[in-house]
Formats: sequence, structure tokens, C-alpha cells
Amino acid sequence: MRYLSTRGRATPRSFSDVLLAGLAEDGGLFMPETWPQFSAAEWREMRALSYPELAAKIIAPFTAGCISEETLRELTQEAYARFDHAAIVPVTQVENGLFVQELFHGPTLAFKDMAMQMLGRLFDHVLTERDESVTIVGATSGDTGSAAIEACRGRKRLNVVILHPEGRTSEVQRRQMTTVTDSNIANLAVRGTFDDCQDLVKAMFADQSFREDVKLSAVNSINWARIAAQIPYYVYAALSLGAPDREVSFAVPTGNFGNILAAWAARQMGLPIRHLCVGSNRNDILTRFLNANDMTMNDVVPSLSPSMDIQVSSNFERLLFELLGRDPEACTRIMTGFRTSGHMDVPDDIWQSARELFSGLALDDEATETEIRHLWKSSGYMADPHTAIGIAAGRAARTPGVPMIAMSTAHPAKFPDAMVAATGIHPALPPSLADLFDRPEHYKVIDNSLGKVEDAVRSFVLANAG
Ligand SMILES: *Cc1c(COP(=O)(O)O)cnc(C)c1O
Repeated sequence: MRYLSTRGRATPRSFSDVLLAGLAEDGGLFMPETWPQFSAAEWREMRALSYPELAAKIIAPFTAGCISEETLRELTQEAYARFDHAAIVPVTQVENGLFVQELFHGPTLAFKDMAMQMLGRLFDHVLTERDESVTIVGATSGDTGSAAIEACRGRKRLNVVILHPEGRTSEVQRRQMTTVTDSNIANLAVRGTFDDCQDLVKAMFADQSFREDVKLSAVNSINWARIAAQIPYYVYAALSLGAPDREVSFAVPTGNFGNILAAWAARQMGLPIRHLCVGSNRNDILTRFLNANDMTMNDVVPSLSPSMDIQVSSNFERLLFELLGRDPEACTRIMTGFRTSGHMDVPDDIWQSARELFSGLALDDEATETEIRHLWKSSGYMADPHTAIGIAAGRAARTPGVPMIAMSTAHPAKFPDAMVAATGIHPALPPSLADLFDRPEHYKVIDNSLGKVEDAVRSFVLANAG
């Protein structure tokens, strides 16, 4: 399988190259040259597989020419071995026709583990083959950093440096990062905001000599491998509820559009999906687009669902590219216009074609809390704020006779304050994290200064090499 850039000015690449590169050199996102197809008979046969086996089968066409299905099976077995539920991605019912698929049974209790646990192992595999090592640098406001750290800890070809804004992540989220003791992991608490952290990471990537010295790399949500590793659970849920002999719909609490794009990819591969529903909080750029063709950037407002507090959904560019009939010039024109004007000018027919499949619903914090309380009272289901938004979006778009499956993206114990406010109950952390608050933390507080952060990364990499 080869990969093309949505902007059309990058040379086609292999899966391994795309994995290590992340973003294409023309600023675009990598897309597979063709969509792998499975027939109805092939989907039916997959019903017998365990989740790791199914994941290897679905990912294999994307890694063809680089990584065999047999190797993938070893990687998926390892990646999901530490999950605390035997089904890995269990599906439960909350209402008539409305189901929830829990994606939070991994080590950091959020759905980021689904892709990140694979990504860490894929990096390790490819770097071992090439006898190389890299330094992964990332900025986080919470879930991504801890998932990256958990996935990469102890892997000797990977140095990981995660920047978080000092005092601005939740305590559970910070402790999940800073209590890890492996020597290849470093946490920097930046005196600044999440945006400052992100700017520092961008500046490090723009500093060519620094970038080469420490062999900089990233595991952010535009990495194609992360999308590929998110497709299998949609297949798993759909097959459990009758596909390919019956259609299903999905609802997804959405931030960067990575998770729901994976559902869309499953549909491209032949899975019968009727509707895809986007759930947003007050940062509702995507739902405004779907409901009124209004994709205008606003300031980010903090909400009860912080992992969806975003201004721009990077992965939307991949859908746009497809809706434009894979026309890279049109895609480049629209995306550069968006960057300069803050408004995405999507032609009316393209918007209409998006609406045939996608719908959107936005909930403010009050409506989110009401939804959490409703689910708890009517079904005894504890949904974290992100999940509650997804469920509400799914209910609103349900078609009778078509199962609606909402993605549960975080364990409620990650957001105890919101849960107590809505239900009066303080959800317990699972046993693997029960002593989180007793473990010592390791991090370095650092000024919001590119020079100081680069020095810290350099000396960390040097110390680890020796
Ligand atoms: C990252 C995240 C999301 C958003 O997922 P995208 O792929 O960015 O759309 C939703 N919920 C939780 C809990 C997350 O961590």
C-alpha cells in the first residue's frame, strides 16, 4: 500500500515512512492510495475472531509491503494484553436500539490507548528493522500525553518528552504521566498554557538543526497509523450487532475528527454503516459545519469534556479530500483559505454530500450534566462527559431498526468532579491505578522558552544514549 498527501505535492510513501513522518512535507495529511475492500463473506468470517486477531486482519492491507499480517498479530496481541476487560472493546446496551462501545479499558482509561498501544509497537518494530532511534516530542492538555507515555515506556529506541502546562491538567491526568519511572520518559511542566506548549513543539520541529540532532518525531492524531488502528473496533461492534447482514450507525464524541474518521474508513472498506453522528461541546465548529455549512474558527472555551476543547479538527482535511473527489488542488485551496481567513469555504454540493452521511449535535456543560444524570437514573450507566455527549448525539439521530452505537471514550473516574455533580457518586479508579495518588511524581518545571526546552531535551537524549 502506498500513501498520497491530501495536498498532492509529496512523493508517494510506504506505510513505514508515513508512520515515522506523521505529516507530509507539503503540509498535507497522508491517505492510502486505495481503500482495501472486504466482501460480505469475509466480514462474516471475521465474526469468529478475537479482538486482537480482528485488528490484525483489518490493519494488514494498510501495512502491506512493510509489515506482514503474522507480525501484526503479534503486535496486536501484545498491545491489548494489558486491557482490563476480556472483550477489550465491550458493547453494552443503554436504551432501546442504543448501544455503547467502551474504548477505555486500556492503561490510561481513555480511547487514545486503542491506537497508541499499537503505535508504540509499530515504531519499535520499524526502528529495530532500520536500526534507528527517535525522540518523540509532544504537547498535551491531558489524555494524549499519558497514552503516549504508557505506550512507549521502556522502549529503548524511543525517547519521549511530553510538555504539559504547569497546573493546568487534571490531577489524574498529570499523575498518569509523571509517576512513570522508565528512563526513556521525561515530563516538562511548562510555565504557560497548552497553546504555549504546542507552540514550543512546533518551534522545535521548525528548528532544522535541533530536529536532526535529536531525530525528532511525533505521535499526534494526524498520524495515519493511529487512524488505521482505530478502524477495527468499529468493525467489531458492527459484526456483534448483525453486520454485514444489517446496517448500523455510530455516534462519536469528536475533537480532532480522528476517531470518527476511522468509522468513515470502515465504511469505505465495505462495512454497512448508515449514519455517523458527531457530538461536540460548546466548541462546536464541526456541528456548525454539518448543520449550517459554517466552519468558522472561534476561541476555545474550556468545558467539562476537555479532550474536545479544540478550535480546528485536523483530520477533517482527510474527509474533505475524499468529498472533493481526491482533488489535491481544491483541497489545498480550501485549507489555505481556512488558515488565513479562519473560515472554511466548502462548496454547497460538497457540504450536502457530507450531510447525507453525517449529522451533528452540540451540548453545553449544563446539557452534558443533564445527560449524565439521565443515563445514570434511567439505565444505571455511568458515562463520562465526553461519552454522554456522544450518546446524546446518537439518540438524536437514531433510525428505528438500525442499531446506534455510541463510542465511550473515557472512564468516568477520570472526571470525578463532573460525575459527583451530576450523580452524587464518586467513581472509583480501577485496581491498576488505585494507588496513583501515592506514587512519587517526576517532572521538571521549565520556563516557556524555546532555548531552555531544547537544552532540556538535548541533555535528556544525551544522558539516555550514554
Ligand atoms: C481525544 C478524545 C476525544 C476526541 O477524539 P478525536 O479523535 O480527537 O475526535 C474524545 N474523547 C476523549 C475522552 C478523548 O481523549
